[in-house]
Amino acid sequence: MKIALGIHRIGDRSIVNAYLLEDGGEVTIIDAGVPGYYRDIPRELAAMGRTIADVRALILTHGHTDHIGFAERLRHDRQVPVSVHEADAALARGEVPNPAKGYGRTKLGPFLGFLWFTLLRGGLRTPKLQEVATFGDGATLDVPGSPRVILVPGHTPGSAALHVPSWGALFVGDAFATYAVTTGARGPQVAPFTADAAEAVASLARLEEISADLVLPGMARAGRRRPRRPARRTCLSDGSRQPARTDESGGWEPPARRSYRTQSWSSRSPHCGLRS
Ligand SMILES: [Zn+2]
Repeated sequence: MKIALGIHRIGDRSIVNAYLLEDGGEVTIIDAGVPGYYRDIPRELAAMGRTIADVRALILTHGHTDHIGFAERLRHDRQVPVSVHEADAALARGEVPNPAKGYGRTKLGPFLGFLWFTLLRGGLRTPKLQEVATFGDGATLDVPGSPRVILVPGHTPGSAALHVPSWGALFVGDAFATYAVTTGARGPQVAPFTADAAEAVASLARLEEISADLVLPGMARAGRRRPRRPARRTCLSDGSRQPARTDESGGWEPPARRSYRTQSWSSRSPHCGLRS
């Protein structure tokens, strides 16, 4: 699915997201979702005018299994290098348990829907990575799009947001979510399966000064930041109410740089605050 010029999402539903980012005819994949997405890659690449031979890298925002999905298969079969923040490398290799404790609060319907979604796509048998390269906080990665790493620990110790200034895009992984697969709750919130919710909220301060037009979470739809309002209510849009703008004609251009900032991530703001 096309999100914007040069940015596609694999799959026709947005419960678990994997993104394709094209730059100069080459492609970086950001997160690998569930294993079953592998068969969708060629079709999505074709929609971008690219093939699997154009894929140069897979970057993981963190080491959870619902982001590793097809990573090992892509690495093994297509020799595509896979990278993750150094603090999540052992998790991505399956050498340490998930630091999140339990499922947290759940509602039966949405949670069963999530389990069914992943079950149908091989998510209960995700292969661990046999090899994974690592990066550190602040690095600018030498892959198409040249994403810059912003470490945002809390969801996992090595959770990283990836800022792509040339496309005005910020891939946040599960640093926060706009849909909770465990409860069905919508709106900006601490993502399900977060190891340390307080640390996750504190880490969001690192994203406040980032100028980006597109915010692309690991769970739920991409959304745009609204421009600053006189009332200083600049919130991340909930994708269900304000889906990302797309232009199927291909005429989309990243808007001129505007300083879109999240006004508040704290629970002090009843309108914009995060739930945890
Ligand atoms: Zn996660």
